[in-house]
Amino acid sequence: MPMTSKTILDSLPDPIIVLDEDRRVIEANKAALDLMPSDMIGHNLAHSLRHPGALKAADMVLQGEPEYLAEIELPPPLRRSFSLHAVRLSEKNHEYGSRVVLLMHETTAAKRAEQMRADFVANVSHELRSPLSALVGFIETLQGPAKEDKEAQQHFLEIMAKEAGRMTRLIEDLLSLSGVEINEHVRPRGRVDIGRIVKSVTESLSVRAAERNLTIELAGTESAPPVLGDPDQLIQVVQNLVDNAIKYGGRDSAIRVRVAPVDRLPQTGGPGVSVAVQDFGEGIPEDQVSRLTERFYRVDKARSRSLGGTGLGLAIVKHIINRHRGSLSIESDEGKGSTFSVVLPVFREHEQNGTQPA
Ligand code: ADP
Repeated sequence: MPMTSKTILDSLPDPIIVLDEDRRVIEANKAALDLMPSDMIGHNLAHSLRHPGALKAADMVLQGEPEYLAEIELPPPLRRSFSLHAVRLSEKNHEYGSRVVLLMHETTAAKRAEQMRADFVANVSHELRSPLSALVGFIETLQGPAKEDKEAQQHFLEIMAKEAGRMTRLIEDLLSLSGVEINEHVRPRGRVDIGRIVKSVTESLSVRAAERNLTIELAGTESAPPVLGDPDQLIQVVQNLVDNAIKYGGRDSAIRVRVAPVDRLPQTGGPGVSVAVQDFGEGIPEDQVSRLTERFYRVDKARSRSLGGTGLGLAIVKHIINRHRGSLSIESDEGKGSTFSVVLPVFREHEQNGTQPA
């Protein structure tokens, strides 16, 4: 069967609509019919696309403009954004007596990314502004009212050091997040002894845990198979999860870190190793669990800040785990505690040098 222009238009992902001089739809490709009411053909455009910007674009061209561009967002529940290009068909091409073609190109993903970038900049500025204005305030106090007060000076300097530390941590986390993002599509290739990482990270955090009378209990670190990964990034994952368990795990209790083999990872179909960090602290409200890996998302902002948090730890964990083609899951019982588990693919020699297993 010869390929007709309609078949070609139907194969395009972008909606295309042809209007006559009365703004009636006389042709629509499959993408347009999937997006808009199926009875759109034969009706005025206002019947299927009730958007003032789109109607104006069509009208401008019907009234003589050669072309007109409009950025439109379809109303809820669709909420999809399109760049709509209305173009006049040349007079001699009037197969249908038509006048205008509307070409729509979806921009939802780009718009969302743009919005996320803008939100991110606003969040970073906001996070930096509060320690910075505290510092400025204390500097003024030290220069003025507290000029001669040794005791107050000592006190203010301590707070200033804390605020400066907060800014440093924020910048370190931002750099580490952007570092992970840059490499996210490059799969790590190293052979990593995850059991050893868990042991050494928990050892170095045990002093902080002891300050809250939290005991870190380990299981499975000796028998875990090696994983395929980037050792520095996996140290960071374990550090962030155990650090959170210490911060939000209450007092006089335990933190359990279990390393265990997993038969099959959904992402790779191959075997994996899971690292689960369980605490018996405050837990997380159910409706907020899925949002924790968003940058700067915190259940309790003031509390996270007072504990030295930046709100970026779990976002970093998520990106590192994505890069490793692993998975992160969070289970929590509010008031009883939480378990954060990551699963990573096992390191297999033959996958690294391209040979098949014997
Ligand atoms: P933060 O620097 O605030 O700790 P994270 O990205 O590491 O940032 O965590 C985001 C938020 O998730 C925290 O502010 C806290 O509300 C919540 N959270 C993380 N880990 C735990 C945990 N083990 N128990 C309870 N809440 C947690």
